[in-house]
Amino acid sequence: MADVKLHSVVKAYGETKILHGIDLEIRDGEFMVFVGPSGCGKSTLLRTIAGLEDITGGEMRIGGRLVNDVPPAERGIAMVFQSYALYPHMNLYDNMAFGLKLAKVPKDEIDRAVRYAARILHIEHLLERKPKDLSGGQRQRVAIGRAIVRKPEVFLFDEPLSNLDAALRVRMRYEFAKLHEDLKTTMVYVTHDQVEAMTLADRIVVLSAGKIEQVGTPLELYEHPDNLFVAGFIGSPRMNFIEAELVSAAADHAVLRLSDGATIRAHVDASRAKAGDKVTLGLRPEHFEVGGDANLISSTVTFVESLGGVTHAYCAYPGVEEALTCEFDGRKRVRSGDTLQLHLPPDLCYLFDAQGLAFKRLGAAA
Ligand code: ADP
Repeated sequence: MADVKLHSVVKAYGETKILHGIDLEIRDGEFMVFVGPSGCGKSTLLRTIAGLEDITGGEMRIGGRLVNDVPPAERGIAMVFQSYALYPHMNLYDNMAFGLKLAKVPKDEIDRAVRYAARILHIEHLLERKPKDLSGGQRQRVAIGRAIVRKPEVFLFDEPLSNLDAALRVRMRYEFAKLHEDLKTTMVYVTHDQVEAMTLADRIVVLSAGKIEQVGTPLELYEHPDNLFVAGFIGSPRMNFIEAELVSAAADHAVLRLSDGATIRAHVDASRAKAGDKVTLGLRPEHFEVGGDANLISSTVTFVESLGGVTHAYCAYPGVEEALTCEFDGRKRVRSGDTLQLHLPPDLCYLFDAQGLAFKRLGAAA
């Protein structure tokens, strides 16, 4: 087991900088997930830890050892890719044993390692099969098994579930969580899927355009996003944003006016702002309530999706281009054309300044 420390890590291809000085500490035994939109540099960052990409600047340490110039095979890591890259002519046992055979590990030790990995991954009964006789999920397990037998200090996973169908992804997500619980090894996992990140991670690194936007536990990111980017990225359906102007700003609340004149009170520390400042109000779809005496906006339902357990109502609101998304209990009947008085609980309002930086929410869990 080992921790991973990155200090001012820069990666450039020629003139083009892909990673702009990454500072990050991945703790020993932690399940860390890198998440961000396509092209933000997640895979590149993972590949620099693996040693598959040289870094252009900065320092990288694994288990305290400077590894800038250490080749991948000597870093104590094992990487699992999106494509399983199994040897088609070998059965599962041999696929998993291959790396150890090459390293001239004694036969009985290989046998113990392969059977241990197979047991953890529930593929003991498949060891004689060839990859072509397996499902996608089983193949992915073999690829993970091949990493486990090497007893790495750090596992690196690059979008390992993206080739699987939705149902299998949910099942394998659970298995990854179990795997981490069983092995307790440091794991770094890349995904573009924020639900996967939220469900698997001890902590999440949100990346955008080669920079870290925020690092935190899933609930820290949900409750206290540092900025508009993280607020919009974490949470599904995504947060609604409404432009507003501050009417009053204090250390324990802010009052804002929306474009249709509605007045909304938010339970935030707005001591750094003043009346007249432009702000953005953020509201999660699951936090709207219908009816109440204050903190109301009036909005017309334009479209309804009934998913059974929950209903998504899309509501037109002045200044909001794509309609507000509201999530209600599935038993609530909402129809297109209804006018709703939506209550925005002050404790559940998110507020951002003109630079997109969050004001501290006071009613949320710390
Ligand atoms: P992500 O995994 O977040 O989708 P990547 O790390 O794969 O993003 O890529 C980040 C950026 O680096 C992208 O703009 C991509 O085009 C660029 N990139 C990746 N590999 C290379 C390369 N070998 N040469 C030049 N640019 C690259």
